[in-house]
Amino acid sequence: MAGTSSSATSVASHLGHAVTPGPILLLGAPGVGKGTQAKELMRLWEIPQISTGDLLRANVAEGTELGRAAREIMQCGNLVPDDLVNQMVAVRLNQPDTRNGFILDGFPRTLPQAHWLDSQLAARPGALPIVAISLQVDYNLLLRRITGRRNCPVCQRIYNVFLQPPKRDGFCDVDGAELVQRADDTEACFQGRIGNYQSLTAPVIDHYRSLGRFAEVRGDQEIATVAAEVVHAVERMRAGA
Ligand code: AMP
Repeated sequence: MAGTSSSATSVASHLGHAVTPGPILLLGAPGVGKGTQAKELMRLWEIPQISTGDLLRANVAEGTELGRAAREIMQCGNLVPDDLVNQMVAVRLNQPDTRNGFILDGFPRTLPQAHWLDSQLAARPGALPIVAISLQVDYNLLLRRITGRRNCPVCQRIYNVFLQPPKRDGFCDVDGAELVQRADDTEACFQGRIGNYQSLTAPVIDHYRSLGRFAEVRGDQEIATVAAEVVHAVERMRAGA
């Protein structure tokens, strides 16, 4: 999860320039590595990552009206109402840096969000169609990735106490700050998040699979390997193969 991003970028840097990326969805259960991969692709293609989780957490931290409405709901990974999330995404998609494409991470998470997104993008002049990538990781690894995840509140680096521990237990290697755990990264919350994923988000995957321009990539490989496979899949789909 943390760490090897520069190698991932160098592996993939000879790729990725063959196509205009357009709108890309990264789909998958909590802990599959959507955020990590989104950051790799963002660097490679110079398009923004739009993480609805990050946008919502920023609203909570700033105490906006949306943040106050979302705070309680997000505490243990329940889903914020579609209308609120869609409005937030609409504002972000209107920003000019989305013109050549963007990577949606954590959105859409329900079928109504997916239908809303499809109609928004269909109305954008000259927009390329969505390509959707579903990352897949087995349950036990997801559990370790989520419950072991720790973040540095200063530099935002992500560690994992099982898979990628810091040199000094509990503290960031880069700046020595005390690492924190997201409130929704406990095992109890993970069960609820997986339940929500299976009942509400899995149908989104079926929706994009049925539309075509859909690929599955194994998320339990090296970050660089996953990134390269995602790039190849996007290139193939953009080339219409
Ligand atoms: P994430 O960082 O993607 O795990 O998102 C953190 C939390 O934000 C989720 O557990 C939800 O409570 C909320 N959230 C993020 N994206 C969405 C979405 N598309 N729809 C509803 N709630 C969301």
